[in-house]
Amino acid sequence: MASLRSPVPSASLLSPPPPRSPHLVHHCRPSSSSSSSRARTPLMAMASSSPPQLQELKQGIADFYDQSSGLWEQIWGDHMHHGFYDSDADDVSLSLTNHRSAQIRMIEESLRFASLLHPDSKIPKRIVDVGCGIGGSSRYLAQKFGAQCRGITLSPIQAQRANALADSQGLSDQVSFQVADALQQPFPDDEFDLVWSMESGEHMPDKPKFVQELARVAAPGATIIIVTWCHRDLNPSEDSLKPWEKELLQKICKAYFLPAWCSAADYVGLLHSLSLQDIKVADWSPNVAPFWPAVLRTALTWKGLTSLLFSGIKTIKGALAMPLMIEGYKKGVIKFAIITCRKPEQAPDV
Ligand code: SAH
Repeated sequence: MASLRSPVPSASLLSPPPPRSPHLVHHCRPSSSSSSSRARTPLMAMASSSPPQLQELKQGIADFYDQSSGLWEQIWGDHMHHGFYDSDADDVSLSLTNHRSAQIRMIEESLRFASLLHPDSKIPKRIVDVGCGIGGSSRYLAQKFGAQCRGITLSPIQAQRANALADSQGLSDQVSFQVADALQQPFPDDEFDLVWSMESGEHMPDKPKFVQELARVAAPGATIIIVTWCHRDLNPSEDSLKPWEKELLQKICKAYFLPAWCSAADYVGLLHSLSLQDIKVADWSPNVAPFWPAVLRTALTWKGLTSLLFSGIKTIKGALAMPLMIEGYKKGVIKFAIITCRKPEQAPDV
């Protein structure tokens, strides 16, 4: 696993207090001390894994989702992301139906955070879903906005299933899915007016390249939404996480095929370095707290356990890592972040 070192640019600017409301927004401006250039070195270091290591990671991700997506869909349906809950939600009393609604709410809250639900905002008509799973977000967004949507995933089984679901829901003229790498997207520049990455960023071994690709395929004026797992922002006096924190994250990396983590502040630094505008960030960790305990509970049911047994070793290892995710959130090492921005209407002067 790559090093988890990550200096945090201008932490005072980028470390919001825990959110008191779901919509606590942290508007970010570039810092005078050039946060972006300070963020680059270790983030670039994350990308310095050898090609065989990168290939192994990609194959691991593809196999993991090939194996586990069927079981996930059976129990949780077509959204493979956290639910969004009121921060005082009593998780034990929530039913599976409540959790599934919370997953839809995650999509709605993300759109709201990015100001796309504002009556004056332009309705997105061309959307890319980067790391699309079995296409739940794409189908939802295509229907909501009457948009065309293209999804990419590393998992052939997911792409196939996503297309089959689109077909059976009469959406195949609006949405389509293919196997492709988010770091080399098969799309021209300036193509989409909404670039959507729901819980895929944590898999990307080269965060600068990931963000560059999101910005490249975004049309001028497009919105970019990144919802992702991050590690906590570092304090100004720190230059890395504590050893026990790194150890915990490394165990999670192994189970879920993740490269080194970064912080939300690191993402903000990268977006600034690309001259993206209206950069906003929020920590939604309190709003996703009921999710992993619920996933763990469903895995421990008779149906969950028997299905797990037949779903392959990678899925079983993933299930065994769930308590680590819960621990990471509880101890404040793992943060659930939303980061949004807009591509300028005109290219910045060079
Ligand atoms: N966004 C979906 C799925 C999240 S699961 C949802 O909310 O339901 C993570 C997804 O990211 C998987 O589909 C996985 O294949 C995809 N992914 C991970 N790394 C990727 C990469 N380099 N290129 C494309 N997709 C990737």
